[in-house]
Amino acid sequence: MSAAPSSMRCLCLPPRMGSSMLSYHSRADFLKLNSLTSLSSFQHRNGKLKLQSKPMAPSRKLHQPCALVIRCDHPQNADLPRYYSKKEKKPFPVPIVELRRAARERFKKSRGQPKKPVPPPKNGLIVKSLVPLAYDVFNERITLINNLKKLLKVVKVHACRYCNEIHVGPIGHPFKSCRGHRASIRKGLHEWTYATVEDVLVPVDSYHLYDRLGKRIRHDERFSIPRLPAVVELCIQAGVEVPEFPTKRRRKPIIRIGKSEFVDADESELPDPVPEPPLKPILTEIPDTEIVAPRDQEEKIQLAEETLEAWEQMRRGAKKLMRMYPVRVCGYCPEVHVGPSGHKAQNCGAHKHQQ
Ligand SMILES: [Zn+2]
Ligand SMILES: [Zn+2]
Repeated sequence: MSAAPSSMRCLCLPPRMGSSMLSYHSRADFLKLNSLTSLSSFQHRNGKLKLQSKPMAPSRKLHQPCALVIRCDHPQNADLPRYYSKKEKKPFPVPIVELRRAARERFKKSRGQPKKPVPPPKNGLIVKSLVPLAYDVFNERITLINNLKKLLKVVKVHACRYCNEIHVGPIGHPFKSCRGHRASIRKGLHEWTYATVEDVLVPVDSYHLYDRLGKRIRHDERFSIPRLPAVVELCIQAGVEVPEFPTKRRRKPIIRIGKSEFVDADESELPDPVPEPPLKPILTEIPDTEIVAPRDQEEKIQLAEETLEAWEQMRRGAKKLMRMYPVRVCGYCPEVHVGPSGHKAQNCGAHKHQQ
């Protein structure tokens, strides 16, 4: 099907329109519907919505029943990620077979060639070119949080008391999709309360590593090591200096003495490190009591646009950082670990899984 003209894209149908409610009365209507290939207001699994026409006047020839499929290839209509229970293992982002194949290829290519020095960050140093990006990601996250706090003053957002579902609108939705505590008693209905910024931007914490190449965190250390938002930890490891969370910055590459063993290079002949000011000023979160709501519609729209921009920038930047600084996620629960290998704290709680 051809793409819809831009003037058609803003045409919205009632969101709850079922397949049986839609019918067309004339050929013109049929053609109009047929060209709505990128209709963004339709959301349906697999990006397809099947519309079954219901003839209104059976005597007219044009109303032969027929099915038409509207494709929703618009990115905002992509499926939500599948829900995995704690008993199921999440799939690898890249299938394990492909990882193995790529590793074999790499091994074949490197055979017979002199060993190259290990590049940062594997050698213990930070990737210098990524430091400004790490500062940007850090600041975009703060901007996002501050803007969300301001927007929540003027936009009603509901959060379920028992699960992660949120609903942006004056009243919570009636769909029975709750999987939270004792959902069966409520017949799957959500119990709505007003949302806070943590409901909209669910915090994902991870352990702070003083030395990202250091020993893996043991189970008995699980309460003594600070935890902080995973994005912040990623930025710290990528070069952002946060005084509250110091981290080891090597100035010489490590010396490997085995496959997983290494020693630090002697840095004694280097001049003493001079504390440098941060590369870029670090933003801070505005306390809840000092949040000022946008004054008028214009300011609200501008704030909303800035918020979306900050979200996109943060995601894009974090993705780039993650290509160099590996981040591990548990296959069964949402636990995230920023570092080359996962931790050994047995705090999973998910079925049959312990790291
Ligand atoms: Zn719920
Ligand atoms: Zn887990």
